[in-house]
Amino acid sequence: MFEIRECFEWRGLGSIDHSGVRIRDRLAAFDAERRFTVPNLSIADPKACQCGEVLKGIITPWECKVFGGACTPEMPLGSLMVSSEGACAAYFNYGKMSAEVPAAAEEMF
Ligand code: SF4
Repeated sequence: MFEIRECFEWRGLGSIDHSGVRIRDRLAAFDAERRFTVPNLSIADPKACQCGEVLKGIITPWECKVFGGACTPEMPLGSLMVSSEGACAAYFNYGKMSAEVPAAAEEMF
């Protein structure tokens, strides 16, 4: 049903070759991208947002300049704080437990 796209624009990561899929030609009748006019919207993240760095593992959510201040689950700036599965939302909601784990985990190893 699907085939690999030439490239795909990921929020916070930019365009990555062969990282997304699209519906094959034989199923074009079911492809909303072809059936409807979908504007190619590119919505930039706020400048303070560091979601891309979190996604790449360069920083932890706690290290984002707006974590827990301007960006919270109630008022998210970035996509990683929007849903409960987002890395930043998880750190925000369960971060105290995570911060305590490393010391306990060190004793296990
Ligand atoms: S979701 Fe919020 S706290 Fe997390 S990286 Fe993005 S802007 Fe920073």
